[in-house]
Amino acid sequence: MIDALLIDDGLQDEMMGVFGQAAWACFQCGACTATCPWGIVSERSLSIREMMRRAQLSVGGAGGDVWLCTDCGQCLQSCPRGVPVSRVFQAWRGQLWKKRTVESGLTPVLWSVYWNGNPLSQPPSERMNWADGLDVPLFDAKEHEYLLFVGCTASYDPRAQKAARALVRILNTSGSDYGVLGEQERCCGECVLRMGHRPYFEDIARANLEQFRKAGVRRVVTISPHCYDAFNNHYPDRKEFVSIHYSQLLLDLLASGKIDLESTPSSRLSFHDPCLLSRANPEYETPREILAHFDGIEFEELDRSRAETLCCGGGGGRIFLETLPDERFSNLRIQEAQQHAIQTLLTTCPLCISCLEDSRSAIQVENLKVLDLAEFIVSAIVPDGRE
Ligand code: SF4
Ligand code: SF4
Repeated sequence: MIDALLIDDGLQDEMMGVFGQAAWACFQCGACTATCPWGIVSERSLSIREMMRRAQLSVGGAGGDVWLCTDCGQCLQSCPRGVPVSRVFQAWRGQLWKKRTVESGLTPVLWSVYWNGNPLSQPPSERMNWADGLDVPLFDAKEHEYLLFVGCTASYDPRAQKAARALVRILNTSGSDYGVLGEQERCCGECVLRMGHRPYFEDIARANLEQFRKAGVRRVVTISPHCYDAFNNHYPDRKEFVSIHYSQLLLDLLASGKIDLESTPSSRLSFHDPCLLSRANPEYETPREILAHFDGIEFEELDRSRAETLCCGGGGGRIFLETLPDERFSNLRIQEAQQHAIQTLLTTCPLCISCLEDSRSAIQVENLKVLDLAEFIVSAIVPDGRE
């Protein structure tokens, strides 16, 4: 018996509108399916090849698989035809928003971005709580070279707040000219884009660009690679300002002698490359160049590093969805660090920190610390620097 195929006219329109013929380049080789991290953690795996065929034929009925993608970029790197698989998933998700059939739990996230300016259901009035007790100036274009864009996770998540605090202590110690938007800062919209609601993302981008324009912002330093990627690669028509990730700024400060390293923390280290600073934006040498400034450091690469990094599992909106404990990519990462007898696993992304910390505690690994690179550096320049 042949199952009836459900043709979804809207899906083809959505994809043609956003990507043109992109999905049609797929010739069904399966390299994407073979390299997607879902194939490592789950027996059911994510059959991307099948999904691309469905997309080409406008056959709907992909069920929850559309929401599995973390937008890690591994499949794009493996695809011989350069098919932007995760973008096809986003278009598919966009169709589901129009039909109001999105995965449960995502609608409140979008409403929170709308009402609160963050996806975490936190009050805008508490956006600066992360900086309690620290000297963090509000941005003034006449005085400050950079706008420090803190981002939602580092503003509200208690673990990520520590990384933001470490970073501003480094900036203050090095005499950097920066300011923040404070309670006026709103979500960059990256999570909205990844969840597939492109029209709302474009509204957010326009509003933020207008705010930056009015404030006279010329350079933006982001804490999250997600904000960095959104500003650099997805904001339309942004010619007035450049955006860099904070690790690039720290490297500049070290290279110009504005940061004095007083000590080298003694620990066997490795680095977890965030997807958005390795595949989407090839910035993987920056943290290694930073670590090269420390004398006598004991550093070992993980098996999957640089452009072959293993996704933490938190991107693509997945941080807002439940992932079964034995299907968490970050568990694999923690186990990999254990196999290399790593004592401190560094990274540069608030979402990676959150996923890695959750896995470390869930699988009860006591002898491994997960630290943001800013936390690591601050402990080398300020006595008792880490909080
Ligand atoms: S790797 Fe590219 S061409 Fe091959 S099946 Fe996947 S999307 Fe299609
Ligand atoms: S972007 Fe990553 S998670 Fe999404 S389909 Fe590709 S390899 Fe899988």
